[in-house]
Amino acid sequence: MTIELINTGSELMLGRVLNTHQQWICRVLADRGYTVDRQVAISDESAALVAAVREGLGRADWVITTGGLGPTCDDRTRELVAAMLGRRLEHHPEVEAQIRSFFEGRNRPVPVRTQVEAMVPEGAEVLVNRHGTAPGLALWLDPNPLRPDGRPTWLVMLPGPPRELRPMVLEEVLPRLAKRFPGQEDFVCRTLKTTGLGESYMEERLDGPLKELVDGGMDLGFCARVGEVDVRFVARGPEAARVVAEAERRTRATVGEYIFGADDESLEQVLVREFSGRGLKLALAESCTGGHIANRVTNVPGASSVLLAGFVTYANEAKERSLGVPHALLVEHGAVSEPVARAMAEGARTVTGADYAVSVTGIAGPGGAVPGKPVGTVFIGVAGPAGTVVRRELNAFDRETFKYLTAQQAMSSVLRLAMAGAVPAADGRG
Ligand code: ATP
Repeated sequence: MTIELINTGSELMLGRVLNTHQQWICRVLADRGYTVDRQVAISDESAALVAAVREGLGRADWVITTGGLGPTCDDRTRELVAAMLGRRLEHHPEVEAQIRSFFEGRNRPVPVRTQVEAMVPEGAEVLVNRHGTAPGLALWLDPNPLRPDGRPTWLVMLPGPPRELRPMVLEEVLPRLAKRFPGQEDFVCRTLKTTGLGESYMEERLDGPLKELVDGGMDLGFCARVGEVDVRFVARGPEAARVVAEAERRTRATVGEYIFGADDESLEQVLVREFSGRGLKLALAESCTGGHIANRVTNVPGASSVLLAGFVTYANEAKERSLGVPHALLVEHGAVSEPVARAMAEGARTVTGADYAVSVTGIAGPGGAVPGKPVGTVFIGVAGPAGTVVRRELNAFDRETFKYLTAQQAMSSVLRLAMAGAVPAADGRG
């Protein structure tokens, strides 16, 4: 089965909008065993669109277009595709009623131009748009007049705005997929999310335990992100589920201490879930991350049941006033030091009454290095019921990456400690 994706929109070619549809659609399909073979992005220009769709329909089993279904003059996908295939555009009263109710529900008059969105190419299936007005359109071309052998092709046209396209793919397209292209059911994909061990070390450790499964046809992949490595298993065939489950079992047995979640889970989601499941409360004392950890934790629904407070104590006086860090400690060791990280975490825990408190203090750079503490040096403290640990890291990156990676290390440290319910030895290099 071959799949081609055509992303339309002059804004993509002008660099005004990042083509997130390419990544999102490929990802959603790949997770279900469908791999996109070819992807092109083109402007709104009619000739470019006709050429791209014609080419795609000339060879692929499934062609997906995005964008150009709206009511404005640069939205031409509907009419150009209908003309190319020699199909009339028919007025659909149900689609018009949906558009009308979309505007009425928002107390707005129905713009005349949206009428065009109720026009559907002859024989096309309408994909409901719950978040906008332009419906998606699907045409099952059987036979496909543009393919030399006449084999069928499924042409699916999706609207451009991501908040319209994504639910439409999940709710309207995916349920129709198995019917259109059966036989992909025996596909299993599983991703384990890890932190604290680099990509090549991870591969080295898993090489032996997974060799037999890889030799047997399982696909093993690694994806390095900032402060994280994804380990992905993909298998096909009647044994797929068993093979992937076995790979997961062996991986957990080998590098289990570095695994924090699976599939799309983020560290902050796991942190909130685990803390909330155990009835634990968290406090944050951030310096160099400037509230980034608090931001990530509060992005997770349910954070309010876990996070008591997040202090952004950038200046020394703030560390003293808000967290009770002794003045003498700051003078003697400097703000970026093991004793200050310890005092910040313990202070935040005491002030808030949280079960665990995490502190970070470091040198994000580019300036600020002192002898023995180069740019990127960071101390991460975790204070818990059984005591306090501090780890030292060297995250010598740009400021944004520094913050992200430090947050990653801080969250994984407190997560590990809270899950173990004790104070293990300080973490090694992540
Ligand atoms: P509309 O009703 O808004 O006109 P449409 O189906 O005609 O919808 P476009 O006009 O092509 O879609 O795009 C609408 C908006 O969707 C764009 O301004 C852009 O912000 C976003 N968008 C379009 N294509 C992409 C893409 N490939 N990746 C990310 N965002 C996109």
